[in-house]
Amino acid sequence: MSVIVRIPTPLRAYAGGQGEVAVEAATVGEALAALAERHPQLRRHLYGDDGRLRNFVNVYRNEDDVRHLEGERTPVRAGDVLTIVPSIAGGAGAPAELSREELARYSRHIVMPEVGLEGQRRLKAASVLVVGAGGLGSPRALYLAAAGVGRLGLVDFDAVDVTNLQRQVLYGTSDVGRPKLEAAAARLRDVNPHVEVVPHPVRLTSENALEVLAPYDVVVDGTDNFPTRYLVNDACVLLGKPNVYGSIFRFEGQVSVFDARRGPCYRCLFREPPPPGLVPSCAEGGVLGVLPGIIGALQALEAIKLILGAGDPLVGRLLLFDALALRWRELRLRKDPACPVCGEQPTIRELIDYEAFCGVPSAAPGGAEEGVPEITAAELRRRLERGDRLTIVDVREPEEWAAGNLAEYGARLIPVGEFVERMHELDSAEEIVVHCRSGRRSAWAAEQLRAAGFRKVWNLKGGILAWEEEAEAAARG
Ligand SMILES: [Zn+2]
Repeated sequence: MSVIVRIPTPLRAYAGGQGEVAVEAATVGEALAALAERHPQLRRHLYGDDGRLRNFVNVYRNEDDVRHLEGERTPVRAGDVLTIVPSIAGGAGAPAELSREELARYSRHIVMPEVGLEGQRRLKAASVLVVGAGGLGSPRALYLAAAGVGRLGLVDFDAVDVTNLQRQVLYGTSDVGRPKLEAAAARLRDVNPHVEVVPHPVRLTSENALEVLAPYDVVVDGTDNFPTRYLVNDACVLLGKPNVYGSIFRFEGQVSVFDARRGPCYRCLFREPPPPGLVPSCAEGGVLGVLPGIIGALQALEAIKLILGAGDPLVGRLLLFDALALRWRELRLRKDPACPVCGEQPTIRELIDYEAFCGVPSAAPGGAEEGVPEITAAELRRRLERGDRLTIVDVREPEEWAAGNLAEYGARLIPVGEFVERMHELDSAEEIVVHCRSGRRSAWAAEQLRAAGFRKVWNLKGGILAWEEEAEAAARG
């Protein structure tokens, strides 16, 4: 019986770079043995010294985890696809060593056979990206840090405000006004100084998402807006990473683990977002303060299980929680063969414009009623040459600024992640032109300015890319 074995990215180096290998076998065990015979270097990654399949290597026959079938004795038929899923993507690296202090700190983990010394070392070797450091992000970040996840990335560009404190337990009253990531990093380093906290003070966009997500083993998403949720989903599918999903509204919460390598993704569940305005945000609809604590803690739990390879992850299952009735419901999710991103013939092969996809008229979550006026590169050049007094603000990151900027026209740098807290440095009496690389981040920045009462604000259409193109065209005459 000829079956296909799919090899995960981290193990392909040991299989001659191949992503799929066809072998003859009648059972899962025979297929893996045939694979190890053909690629001897793979053997030590699949089998322990006792000759048994390593417990953090999961094998799926088509869509089913073979642990729930007959394990290695599970029969296979011609055309079946076996997928090897290491418990974390990129997790083939050696577990990290623990210091004496860490052994003491994690002793309640280490005594449990399901975690043990090896599990704790795996946690230390692992990295998790927490998208959103708000209500859901607070318990996730606190528990993941306390549990000893080695590297914890946080994405958020907001500042702490007093309405956050009812549920965002990562912050205290003295943090009001501070950038969330600054306050969060300080708190998490106090919770566990052995954890490396990596702040990403950016708004995730199609341009930066792959770069931000790529270095992490597990992504934990709890964003409160649809464009970012679809963006994170698609980026995880494209990168082959598990996405621990959570969402909350008023008294209800949802949790699942989307891992397109072995189950459905968010788009398999919701092909398209609801029309803008139909589903109110937490700011409009409210949320019970304890609820994100419950849902966010479940997300932290699922992330830790994925790293340990322990238990049954919420892959292919959607957990619904009703806090008022105190009832849980579990729905079975199926992978949609026609899913546009993880299906058999995906039409989405790179990140798209998620604001447009979700019908959001501008880049801003809950943006102003009217769009921000744009200025073209040609018009900006004309006005600068005429000697008009314009304040140009570049909202890109310092590395992008260093690679080329408009400093000769007096431009200044305020990266988008610092924008809200630093916008007081700008003078609302001046005409302000904001720009980024392509115009999207700066559209958001411009809306923040307008929301703060600035009226003479322009967004440079097409960003510095359009400016450079225009300069080249002008030089050619
Ligand atoms: Zn899908």
